[in-house]
Amino acid sequence: MTAGYTHDIDKCVAEINRMAAAGADIVRVAVPEKKDTDALREIIPQVRVPIVADVHFHFQRALEAVEAGVHKIRLNPGNITDRAQVIDVIQACKAKGLPIRVGVNEGSIIERRDKQKRKEELGKFFAQHKQGHLMALMIAKLEEYLDIFYEQDFYDIAISAKSMDAAFVFDIYSAISERFDEPLHLGVTHAGPKETGCIRSIAALSALMCNGVGDTIRISYANDPIYEVEDGLELLWSLGLRERKGVDLIACPTCGRIQVDLFTLVQDVRKALAAEITVPIKVAVMGCIVNGPGEAEGADVAIFAGDRRGIIYVQGEKVANVPEPEILDRLLNECREFQAKVMRGEAKLGEKKVDIVPPDPLGELGSGFDKIASGNVEKRVAVTVGGEVKWSLQGEPHA
Ligand code: SF4
Repeated sequence: MTAGYTHDIDKCVAEINRMAAAGADIVRVAVPEKKDTDALREIIPQVRVPIVADVHFHFQRALEAVEAGVHKIRLNPGNITDRAQVIDVIQACKAKGLPIRVGVNEGSIIERRDKQKRKEELGKFFAQHKQGHLMALMIAKLEEYLDIFYEQDFYDIAISAKSMDAAFVFDIYSAISERFDEPLHLGVTHAGPKETGCIRSIAALSALMCNGVGDTIRISYANDPIYEVEDGLELLWSLGLRERKGVDLIACPTCGRIQVDLFTLVQDVRKALAAEITVPIKVAVMGCIVNGPGEAEGADVAIFAGDRRGIIYVQGEKVANVPEPEILDRLLNECREFQAKVMRGEAKLGEKKVDIVPPDPLGELGSGFDKIASGNVEKRVAVTVGGEVKWSLQGEPHA
């Protein structure tokens, strides 16, 4: 969803196009005033993604948005409650073949204008188990609202039921997926800043999607919506629900074994590859030989580091052993070349040419020279046991 004013046409167009370029499939905009729905007439021809008008309180905004050429309407049963008004919107959408999302939100479901009604709802809210009652209330409002649509023979509907509570989002979507046949739009609303909102959103949405629940998603942050798009896509890619575009980057978190500046390397690799690589090659940037070979095994291009140097593999084959200052350039070049080969049909993603033969951790990677110098380790040699390469000490084993 855009964060700026819809009536600020040029900025709104720029924001929508930025989100589309980042990977958004659908963009929602707020239309609180008539000048916002008027603006849609100029915005829509300048953007490449379907636009959803987010309508609250004023049903006229929905009618105006439909006339302006919007692709979908979102209505909130918590604040557009007049039956005749809802029917007007349904009929307008029906005439143009537009879908409507019925979106209940925890924050706007309890009555705020009718004091008596609010008292009754809040009474129930506090008298019973909070989550259970709230869920029942949201589902009851959805059912009541959807009945108006069904009575109008209108079925082009999507449903959402958002909350800021990740566990509640999981519970309510699990419940409504059993109860309704309509497609579900998932989201944790008001999830907060990106840093914590990310966990809040991913916790609920990934659990639901792993259970096969959900048709569209929105990640919501108090931040630039580009982050919402990027993280939403990464979630879909990570769950294998959408084919990844660009690099799948694996990197180790580092530990007391690290002997290169891996954090800087990973960020440099990420930025460079994001700008250049469009084929979903898997790249592993690993700190040492402990997990390096294992991750490199499944990667198209991999590096694992030793003492201020790194060994680079392509499709399991060792192609270079370079000092730290040369790792970045060499790794990027290997990624570029691998992408070119994939595009020419000369290499296949995920195909290993040879099994990785791990280097001697105390040998060519340079790690452990201090131990060797201290006399605790004399020499290691590679031996093959049952087809597996293992390292064996000659002389005194180190302590
Ligand atoms: S790969 Fe090596 S450096 Fe990285 S976390 Fe694992 S053991 Fe530590």
